Amino acid sequence: MVKLVFLGPPGAGKGTQASLIAEFYHVPHISTGDILRSNVAEESPLGIQAKEYMDKGDLVPDELILDMVQKRLENPDAQNGWILDGFPRTVTQAEEFVKKLLSTSTNENETETGKAKISNSFQVINLQVPDDILVARLLSRGRQDDNEETIKNRLQVYYQQTEPLIEFYEASQQLITVDGNHAIDAVTDSLKQAVDQLS
Ligand code: ADP
Repeated sequence: MVKLVFLGPPGAGKGTQASLIAEFYHVPHISTGDILRSNVAEESPLGIQAKEYMDKGDLVPDELILDMVQKRLENPDAQNGWILDGFPRTVTQAEEFVKKLLSTSTNENETETGKAKISNSFQVINLQVPDDILVARLLSRGRQDDNEETIKNRLQVYYQQTEPLIEFYEASQQLITVDGNHAIDAVTDSLKQAVDQLS
């Protein structure tokens, strides 16, 4: 069962790669950024709250994100694997993810046969790309939150709040680091190799 978290700074290619890998292994690609952006577009209560943070390049508060991800993981399509892109993004999110979300999404049969632990285990892909390349990629992407000032803040937020997750997942031996500074196809190939080695 493919259960992967994609970790990496903004512009590392998480979204592109997560979507390709999800399609290849027939699991849903769950991007918190995409879910948030569609909520903003619909002007849902969550979208209205999230927008002010996103526009500045700040993180949306953990409680909102945890609720949102919990609901998404309860969907039937997420019961046999997933690729999470953009979550967890803080140590609190990572802790709550294991404490609450993963236990509620465990399928009963697996608990009975004692496989819950295995099915709950997931690997974390750390997509590594140097800073100068990240900035260039983000500027050329041109999304609403991709202007120079917001990009600077998003990188800073990444180093302060998300990068500590690298050590967190290294300590639990869940981390796989992949060089993201190559052509899209080459990175996808390295990722597939890494995933195939897991099974
Ligand atoms: P990128 O990784 O390219 O910066 P994303 O699409 O993953 O972009 O996220 C866009 C914005 O959505 C972030 O800058 C942040 O405001 C918000 N966001 C996405 N995921 C999370 C999360 N797990 N926790 C808090 N905020 C989030």
